[in-house]
Amino acid sequence: MVQCFCGMVHDLGRRGFLGALMAAAVDAQAPAPASAGPADPALIEDLVIANHILYDQGVVDGFGHISARHNKDPNRYLMSRSMAPALVTAEDILEYDLDSTPIDQRGRAVYLERFIHGEIYKLRPDVRAIVHSHSPAVIPYANVKVPLRPMNHIASFLGGGVPVFEIRTAAGPASDMLIRNAALGHALATVLGPHPVALMRGHGSVAAAQSVRHVVFRAVYTEVNARMESEALRLGEPTFLNDEEAAAAMKTNDALVDRPWDLWKRRVTAK
Ligand SMILES: [Zn+2]
Repeated sequence: MVQCFCGMVHDLGRRGFLGALMAAAVDAQAPAPASAGPADPALIEDLVIANHILYDQGVVDGFGHISARHNKDPNRYLMSRSMAPALVTAEDILEYDLDSTPIDQRGRAVYLERFIHGEIYKLRPDVRAIVHSHSPAVIPYANVKVPLRPMNHIASFLGGGVPVFEIRTAAGPASDMLIRNAALGHALATVLGPHPVALMRGHGSVAAAQSVRHVVFRAVYTEVNARMESEALRLGEPTFLNDEEAAAAMKTNDALVDRPWDLWKRRVTAK
């Protein structure tokens, strides 16, 4: 049972919010129509810029990735070939189906953990962009029992609770910690449920949102919030946003993501 932004308690078992999401996902998994054609160049451009911003803001390094659902075909998504995000160009963006099979691989290497993206898109029709990262301030909250909670209004999207994925539950005690197949991706997507962010014990986190710009916002401020929370815990017992404050602040912030995006974009395009 999870207390959500809406004030309701959602049953994350077979029914309730996640059940509805999974039912909707059946539609998302219907046989893919022929590709609706090339993705919007503006979406590709945002995806490339997002790769650079996530590196510049300390969310990704040589590892980590961001994807966007195809604007014309909900059964496809766009993501770079396997490479460091800071070096991604438009020519590196590949199209994948929701089983995370590249449509036209052309001999290029693909991310081992691409199943994170495909399986979340299957379960979350509302999600149009996903970040997976190993951002360093966040990982401690995946490994200890102190929950990651919203310290300030900018990170209000953390207000509904941040679930933690334990890979041993799905893969046993001897995995290499990577989400390297669809079954593990599905297990992670199920733990994420309706939330914007989930942590991965001993590994990193995922953030999901309605657009590339929103998911970059969430990935950056998840890392910032983790730093602030760790500092607050050193000082004493923090008071966090309650769910009502978080819901109200998230609504405000969701309309303002272009402001930091424009700043972050200028930093990476001015170099
Ligand atoms: Zn990873």
